[in-house]
Amino acid sequence: MDKRVAILGSTGSIGCQTLEVIAETPGLRACAIGARDNWKLLAEQAAACKPDVVAIVNPDHAAELSKHLDKSVKLIAGPDALSELIRESKPNVVLTAVVGSAGLKPTMTAIEIGATLALANKETLVCAGSVVVPAARAAGVDILPVDSEHSGIFQCLAAGTCKEVRKITITSSGGSLRDMSDAEANAATVKEALSHPTWEMGPKITIDSATLMNKTLEMIEAHWLFDLPPEKIDVVIHPQSIIHAMVEFCDGSVIAQLAEPDMKGPIAYALSYPDRPTRNVKSLDLAAIGKLEFRAVQGRFARAIELGHHVIRDGGAAGSVVNAANEAAVEAFLNDKITFGRILPIIDSVLDIWDNSQTSSNSPTLSTDKQVTLQDLLTVDEWARKQVADLL
Ligand code: MG
Repeated sequence: MDKRVAILGSTGSIGCQTLEVIAETPGLRACAIGARDNWKLLAEQAAACKPDVVAIVNPDHAAELSKHLDKSVKLIAGPDALSELIRESKPNVVLTAVVGSAGLKPTMTAIEIGATLALANKETLVCAGSVVVPAARAAGVDILPVDSEHSGIFQCLAAGTCKEVRKITITSSGGSLRDMSDAEANAATVKEALSHPTWEMGPKITIDSATLMNKTLEMIEAHWLFDLPPEKIDVVIHPQSIIHAMVEFCDGSVIAQLAEPDMKGPIAYALSYPDRPTRNVKSLDLAAIGKLEFRAVQGRFARAIELGHHVIRDGGAAGSVVNAANEAAVEAFLNDKITFGRILPIIDSVLDIWDNSQTSSNSPTLSTDKQVTLQDLLTVDEWARKQVADLL
C-alpha cells in the first residue's frame, strides 16, 4: 500500500518540490493537493499526480479550476478548504507548506484525524507551539520537521536523546545581504533582498533570511520540536550552507548533518520516515567544496537571535506577536511601503507594545483560561498586524 500524502500549499516552492519527491519515490502517492490562489498550476499538478481531492481557498477560482479537473476529482473551495481536504482524503501524512498562520487550522485537523504531520510551515509552531505540540502528543501524532535545519537536528538526534543534548546549533547562510554594510542593507531594494546566495525559496522566507528573522522563527520552532530551553539553542553563520545543523551532546561530542542545499532532501526524509529514502543525488564532494566557513552572529544580525530567546522565554502568545508583525512588515517591504531597514524595528516596536499591553488599554481580549487557546492566538495575530498597520 502506498503512503498517502496530502500537500497543503502545493503550488509554492516546497509544494512543487514535494510533488517531485513523490514522483521520484516509490511507495508515496499524492492523494490530495491544495493551494490558495494559483488555480492554473493546481490544475496542471492535478493532471500529473491524479489526486482524489483538490482544494482551493479562494472561491473565486473554483469555477474555472473545476473545468480543468478530471470528473473523478473532488473539488473543495473556500476558507476552510484545506481542513476539509484533510477530512475528505484521509491521508497518512499531511505535508503543510502554506505560508504564514493560514496553516494553523488545517494542522489541527491533521492532528484530529491522526495523520503524521510533515511540517514545512514553521509559523505553525512559532505561533501555536503551545497548542499544537500538546495536542499532537495527546493524539500520538508525530511532528516531522521539513525545515532543513530541523531535519538536520532530527537526524543528528539519532545519535543520542534530547536529555543528553548540551546545545544545538542551526546554521544560517547570512542571507542575500550578508556582505553589505548596515547602511547598504538598510537601503537594499526588493530585488537585491530576493537574490538568495545558496537557497532557492519563496519570497517571504528569502526576506526572512536576509533579516535573519528566519533564524528567530527557527529557534522557536526548535524549542517546540525538541523541547529545548533558549540557552541550548544557538545560531552560527555558515555561508556555504553545507552543514545544516549540529547537536552537541553532554560528552562534548558534536554530530553534524551535511548535504548540498536542496530542500528535496528534508522533504524526502520526512515523507519516508522512519525509513531513509534512496535518492539519486550526487555524493557530497568536500574536496571540491574546499572550505566550510563559520562566523559569529553579530552586528545588525544579533537582534534576531535575541528576539528568538526573548520569545521562547516569554512563551504564551509572544510567538504569534512576532510572527504576525514579521509577516506584515515583510509584506510592506515587498510592496515597497517600507525600506528593508525598518522591518526589524517594526517587529521590536510591536513586541514592546505587547510586553506592555497588560498595563495599558491597547491589548487584545483573550480567553480567561490559563491555557492559551487557538482562538487567542488568532486574536493576537490580528492584533499584531493592526499594530504594524498603525506604525506604517
Ligand atoms: Mg530553514
